[in-house]
Amino acid sequence: MTGPELKFKDQVVIVTGSSSGIGKACAIYFANQGAHVVVNYSSNAEEGQNTLNEILNKGGSAILVQADVSREDDVLALFRETISKFGRLDVLVSNAGLQKDSPFLEMSLQQWQKVIDVNLTGMFLCCRAAARQFIEQEKNATETSHSELSIGKIVMMSSVHDVIPWAGHVNYAASKGGIMMFMKSISQELAPHKIRVNSVSPGAIKTPINKEVWSDPEKYKGLMNLIPYKRIGTPQDVAKAVGWLASDESDYVNGETLYIDGGMTLYPEFADNG
Ligand code: NAP
Repeated sequence: MTGPELKFKDQVVIVTGSSSGIGKACAIYFANQGAHVVVNYSSNAEEGQNTLNEILNKGGSAILVQADVSREDDVLALFRETISKFGRLDVLVSNAGLQKDSPFLEMSLQQWQKVIDVNLTGMFLCCRAAARQFIEQEKNATETSHSELSIGKIVMMSSVHDVIPWAGHVNYAASKGGIMMFMKSISQELAPHKIRVNSVSPGAIKTPINKEVWSDPEKYKGLMNLIPYKRIGTPQDVAKAVGWLASDESDYVNGETLYIDGGMTLYPEFADNG
């Protein structure tokens, strides 16, 4: 990709969980903006390849790397492969996540653990690797390449369930609530290094994770009661916001959560019940 308007020209961006949904839209967004993108998947190699092909077919630059973000060795290998191929890292979009739903009383330890491992521990492992890389490459930067702008950007994929309790999904809500404090705490710790850390919290976005809701007309109608803007979000709605948070346009934004939810966090039940 070439052209003067490209916002991420020659920046290197890892998007975890980019074989599907929001992560895929982010990977394509960054590639369209001139970045070298590392597409990551855990189990679905075919979908990972589809994301990669979509980027390469449009003349973009990307590689595909398998890694389970909850496994330390996999995460270290993901970052090693990134640096070996592209030489540096500028942006981490820590997006990989999943649900294992169950009523609380029936939830198994395995269901609890899996969601915490991927959604929260995966976040820890990827963010730590990214921060270490940003600091390392800044140490090796030449005098002239130093700038007042951030030396590295991290955007975490949280959810409106970092503030909206969610019965039947307590493992998921706990993981996203955990991301909130994790994000703020590392943002405080990393800001002196000029590393910016923020998150986006999507509401209902049309992806495979919630197909059961948007593919059923009755359930979709029920969902609209929760969304003042009266439409489900698209992965591209989220990707554009992630792009802004990862860009120099938001250089003074640190430790913030941007809700991309059509107003889902506005207590819609109170709209005509005051
Ligand atoms: P999705 O379509 O199911 O995609 C999930 C992605 O995560 C896939 O690429 C999957 O890859 C990857 N993944 C799962 N486990 C992984 C692991 N252990 N290591 C690496 N990658 C892994 O879901 P989505 O809706 O795009 O969700 C993406 C993120 O947005 C999640 O963090 C989710 O919590 C958050 N979110 C989504 C919504 C929504 O309404 N869709 C709302 C709020 C927040 P494989 O298939 O290869 O495993």
